Amino acid sequence: MTSHDSFAGHPSAVPPPAPNGHSGFVLWMEGLSGAGKSTLSKHLANRLTALGWRVEILDGDEVRRGLSPELGFTRKDRETHAHRVSYVARVLSRNGVAVLVALITPYETSRKAARASIGERFTEVYVRAPLEVCQERDVKGLYKGQKAGQVKQMTGVDDPFEEPSAPDLIVDTANTHVDQCVESILQHARSKGFLPH
Ligand code: ADP
Repeated sequence: MTSHDSFAGHPSAVPPPAPNGHSGFVLWMEGLSGAGKSTLSKHLANRLTALGWRVEILDGDEVRRGLSPELGFTRKDRETHAHRVSYVARVLSRNGVAVLVALITPYETSRKAARASIGERFTEVYVRAPLEVCQERDVKGLYKGQKAGQVKQMTGVDDPFEEPSAPDLIVDTANTHVDQCVESILQHARSKGFLPH
């Protein structure tokens, strides 16, 4: 399969350039709940929009409600969900959209599959913070819920998070300010040729 295998139903058709003249790309941000994926994707979206990009954020819980309402949190379901997200990211990016994926993506198989499916205009950013820091932040109250027995299969606690083996970039949100993380991701996107220097 090529990246254009099903474009408009014409196997060999090449997508038209986006109106803004940009070739899209996918920034795939993975990491524990509370590591900072949503926060960084919102900041990045603001920056990219100001630069004239069309941007889509595919953020964990929201995109799950839209794409995978029937799925749970078993390994198979998480992999299926990541597969669907990577498909949507691929379709959007080949139409000129800057796609910001904010998804825990606990399994290496899913990360590798997304990379293989999207191809060159994909980059993997590990949004890293120690579990203790994420628990302390507990933005959504999920860690507290897990302790109280109301939340099951909490990634990093009673469900696996495989340490990313080959991310293209790591941002250490426990020790680096949000603004600095945003700058390093933008710099990385420039170095990949996704954004002009
Ligand atoms: P996730 O989307 O990974 O579950 P969130 O973005 O919802 O995480 O929450 C991360 C929390 O950590 C927010 O409250 C954010 O303000 C805080 N935070 C502190 N430092 C950073 C940083 N460098 N990058 C991102 N978020 C940070």
